[in-house]
Amino acid sequence: MRLFRCACHSGLSYLRSPADAASGAPAPKSGGKVDASVFKDIAAASRILADQGVVDGFGHVSMRHPHDSNRFLMSRSLAPALVTPDDILEYDLECECVDARGFGSFLERFIHGSIYRARPDINAVAHSHSPNVIPFGLTGRPMQAMFHNAAFIARGVPIFDISEKFGATDMLVGNNSKGDALSAVLADKDVVLMRAHGSVATGPDLQTAVFRAVYTELNARMQVTATMLGGHIAALSPEEGRLADEVNRNAGFRAWDLWKSRVGY
Ligand SMILES: [Zn+2]
Repeated sequence: MRLFRCACHSGLSYLRSPADAASGAPAPKSGGKVDASVFKDIAAASRILADQGVVDGFGHVSMRHPHDSNRFLMSRSLAPALVTPDDILEYDLECECVDARGFGSFLERFIHGSIYRARPDINAVAHSHSPNVIPFGLTGRPMQAMFHNAAFIARGVPIFDISEKFGATDMLVGNNSKGDALSAVLADKDVVLMRAHGSVATGPDLQTAVFRAVYTELNARMQVTATMLGGHIAALSPEEGRLADEVNRNAGFRAWDLWKSRVGY
């Protein structure tokens, strides 16, 4: 296996070499041709997350292949604000690339593949290290839904501590077994925190996953402010969260259109 320096996490990522295919590990087949607008939307999602302060040089977003539930699409290893439609690669759910075209893959693509394997209802995943969320993963202070846009948080936000199963690691979800441990903690929720690392937001579509990633970060900031004010925090109840989330799943597209225009897509 040829090793390449990864632009993400200053770690190593790998891509399939011709020798891999010759050694009996053929690349997975493509799930089929995808409309150009899909690649454009994934590039837009990457840039939106950067523009909204959710990702910086690191982090990534993916979506399930529209014609094959056993494939997903995400950028090659690249800073999210630089992603273009031409950078999108296709993977099977074990995170093997269909055609790397000479590009490197994100080391933490296993976050995405594992969640798609475990949750057929999830069609988009965003992973970030957004700064205001991380303290909640460190302290164990439960995240609560501060306002209606963050309604999905009212269902609960579990914390994945990679050390519980894997001991001392580099903290990265760099293989399928670590991905499976993460998706087991996510369980049936929409967002999972990663201790001393970041978080993952999911959704039934790309727009919802981006919406939830943005509002997870905003909600974290608001909760810190509310906590500093002191007293009881009258957060959304689970039922209020359920009702508000239904509205957001449609209204979120308005935010998507605005955010997309801001990044020139
Ligand atoms: Zn990460």
